[in-house]
Amino acid sequence: MTDRKVYYFDNNATTRVAPEVVEAMLPFLRDQWGNPSSAYRFGHQVAKHVAAARERVAALLHADPREIVFTSCGTESNNAAIHSALLTQPGKRHVITSAVEHSANIKYGRFLKEQGFDVTFSPVDADGLIDIHRVEKAIRPDTAIVSIMWANNETGIVFPIEELAAICRSKGVLFHTDAVQAPGKVSLDARGTGVDMLSLSAHKLNAPKGIGCLFIKKQTRFHPHIMGGHQEHGRRGGTENVPYIVGFGVAAEMALNRIHHENTCVRALRDRLETQIFKLIPQVVRNGAKEPRLPNTSNLSFLSVEAEAILTQLDKIGVCASSGSACTTGSLEPSHVLTAMGIAAPRARSSVRFSLGAGTTAAEVGFLVEELPSIIERLRGTSAQPAVVAGKPRSKDHNRPTPRSAAA
Ligand SMILES: *Cc1c(COP(=O)(O)O)cnc(C)c1O
Repeated sequence: MTDRKVYYFDNNATTRVAPEVVEAMLPFLRDQWGNPSSAYRFGHQVAKHVAAARERVAALLHADPREIVFTSCGTESNNAAIHSALLTQPGKRHVITSAVEHSANIKYGRFLKEQGFDVTFSPVDADGLIDIHRVEKAIRPDTAIVSIMWANNETGIVFPIEELAAICRSKGVLFHTDAVQAPGKVSLDARGTGVDMLSLSAHKLNAPKGIGCLFIKKQTRFHPHIMGGHQEHGRRGGTENVPYIVGFGVAAEMALNRIHHENTCVRALRDRLETQIFKLIPQVVRNGAKEPRLPNTSNLSFLSVEAEAILTQLDKIGVCASSGSACTTGSLEPSHVLTAMGIAAPRARSSVRFSLGAGTTAAEVGFLVEELPSIIERLRGTSAQPAVVAGKPRSKDHNRPTPRSAAA
């Protein structure tokens, strides 16, 4: 395939590595490849850059650098937080999380259940909002940790983290938040909000995949998930991924400076995209509340059309978007997030998530808004041109209007 234009509307799945980040990383791939734990200067010099990156990531979170532990990804950070809470409090065998978490928490929660722990998946309402009183009521004397995401990756719904942290503090329960979707979009004050632990993933903020961090509030007891060397003050074994940590640091600084842009320019583009789609295409509904929501995310159901069919057509014209989360794409299961919101399977399966980024342009939104109406019309079989019928050359199985309605 030739280099054609990519219209990227999937920034909640991953983001482009910023050129500044690539540049900052290159010296540590080419020349400064020493081990930061080594005693000689060739290694020790590298350690200084790891320390500088740690300061930058800490600044993004209004945290102390000593509160930052670098990990391999957001998934590891989430797993490590819950794992530590259970290991440091052996008498406590109950975990609370939400029904709309990333699969990192959902799968780990299911695993813990199989291991004999008790896990509560706290529900959300039809708008995707969490009921903090239900979370509070679910807390028991044997609750080891409450882990609730800062913002949902599918709907963009922002959760009341400060209130949740306050509830947990008053009950003496650890509180962790998966803040992977928050940097650059909302202001993140780990200390001010009173969370005990917080997860980030660099590839959601214009740095490479495979690097993340866990904020661990000072004086929080912690048991490592990955055990080995004394790296990260004994909180995460394994030689530091120096180039990626350096890149993460640069990206963290950029994210801190981008919040205003995201909440003005990106938000305006997202709102224009939604307004135009609602105006030009009938039978479209938003999944989740309008607010409080991340400024870049729009989750819409194009009723009576399969999302997979829409995505296939969009892919043909270079538009990247997703249905549900990337992790559930490819399976016919409707998104667990939309299901938890009480959205019936046919509507959930017609949901497409558009997630904009700092680099999204008005022209790109214009292109999408121009192309989408005819795609939906064609898939619904309501256009003047020949409908897409099974058996015709262009059609694949999933291009039929409502192929799986029987399964609903
Ligand atoms: C992407 C994502 C993760 C997983 O992060 P990885 O670094 O890919 O493991 C966790 N939580 C949320 C909300 C995410 O969007």
